[in-house]
Amino acid sequence: MADAESTIIIIGAGVVGLSTALYLRRSGRDVVVIDPLPPPGGASFGNAGMISADTSVPIALPGMLRKVPSWLSDPLGPLAVRPSYFPKALPWLMKWIAAGRMNRVLEISDAMRALHKEAFLCWKEMLGPENFADLVRPVGQVHVWEVDGESQGAALERTLRERQGIPSQTLGVDDLRQMFPGISQAVRRGVLVPGNGYTVSPQRIVQTLHRLFMEAGGKLVPESVMKIMPREGGGYDVMTNVGFHRARQIVVAAGAYSTRLVAPLGIRVPLETERGYHVMLPTPNLSLTTTISNKSRSFGVTPMEHGLRVAGTVEIAGLDAPPDERRAKALIANVRTMFPGVNTEGHRFWMGFRPSTPDSLPILGETAGRPGLFLAFGHGHFGMTGGPPSGRLISRLINSQTTGIDAAAYAPQRFGRR
Ligand SMILES: Cc1cc2nc3c(=O)[nH]c(=O)nc-3n(C[C@H](O)[C@H](O)[C@H](O)COP(=O)(O)OP(=O)(O)OC[C@H]3O[C@@H](n4cnc5c(N)ncnc54)[C@H](O)[C@@H]3O)c2cc1C
Repeated sequence: MADAESTIIIIGAGVVGLSTALYLRRSGRDVVVIDPLPPPGGASFGNAGMISADTSVPIALPGMLRKVPSWLSDPLGPLAVRPSYFPKALPWLMKWIAAGRMNRVLEISDAMRALHKEAFLCWKEMLGPENFADLVRPVGQVHVWEVDGESQGAALERTLRERQGIPSQTLGVDDLRQMFPGISQAVRRGVLVPGNGYTVSPQRIVQTLHRLFMEAGGKLVPESVMKIMPREGGGYDVMTNVGFHRARQIVVAAGAYSTRLVAPLGIRVPLETERGYHVMLPTPNLSLTTTISNKSRSFGVTPMEHGLRVAGTVEIAGLDAPPDERRAKALIANVRTMFPGVNTEGHRFWMGFRPSTPDSLPILGETAGRPGLFLAFGHGHFGMTGGPPSGRLISRLINSQTTGIDAAAYAPQRFGRR
């Protein structure tokens, strides 16, 4: 049992769990990851792959309250709440709207910046230079709008970037035509954020983390955790569908499912799932050199190794409702509007669960009153960006090293303070 006592159990083998596992294993700790699915089985599989080190704009922004009626009445809008799920989501939505107040937006933006700014460095540190060059394209990201002149949202984004000293370049209609031949005349304005980038395969990059973890002597147990049980005298027993494990330290990194594991321990943190969709276009007949996020229509396109991924939309409907493929079809209509010549034949749909907090910041750190129980989830729209730095942060916290950033902004206890 001495070995088991010193082992760290990580629940969840998404980008967050495996980043944490790799950092901890390389620091010399014995690490066991538990996940029933071969990595990546969750949101880390089907995201848009954007690595947004230079993005520090929260999802909740001023003026959100006005939008509630449209969230409820338009099932295909960029943000929809299923009416039957609205009462359940209401407390989270209220916190979300409160996080959109300007004073909070500035604080959240600072904390996002602190966590995200070393995202590429962490990816490179974990993958090594060859895998990094194979999988990551640090070539910038382009945001576009279908309006002439700077919209209110674009102005706020610029203000937040300028506050942090993040470079960006405004793109006019001619720049956009040159960069993206075939782009529709409806697209009027753009911004290039050169410090951002993307991965050509979210699936393969997470599989590479898994391979590197195994090569470093880590272990993945293909089981589903049913309950975490605190032991008298310290440490935890973990009951799975087919097994039983014991450890002094546990990291819960089960993405959107994490609260199902910690709620029975009396740990209440506001986590909701913002369900998102993607459409994969295997032969799009377009060759893009960067990602494009269409801010007027709330979707993005990423040139991946197996085709073009069109991703986005937020649907608040919980973990159990079946996917609504009409939302994925709406993504096809959107990409056709932006690139009228795009070939959508052979398209494939996917839906995944973003693990989202109301303040766009992940929940990272040890829980109050439960020594050795660490939470590492809630990365929402930014897990491919914040996952690796979060893994490094949790590893440093567990190893009692200096964290390099103020971890209080992400602490599980912060919601009790507001
Ligand atoms: C459409 C879409 C587009 C996105 N685009 C981007 C983007 O461009 N850039 C970006 O940075 N982020 C993006 N994201 C967000 C990003 O994908 C997530 O934030 C990130 O993948 C979350 O990682 P995770 O490891 O916390 O969770 P997940 O990847 O969901 O992994 C959680 C793991 O926990 C396991 N698990 C669950 N319950 C249990 C249990 N009981 N026992 C054991 N294991 C369990 C699951 O099987 C799963 O493997 C996007 C998300 C979506 C849906």
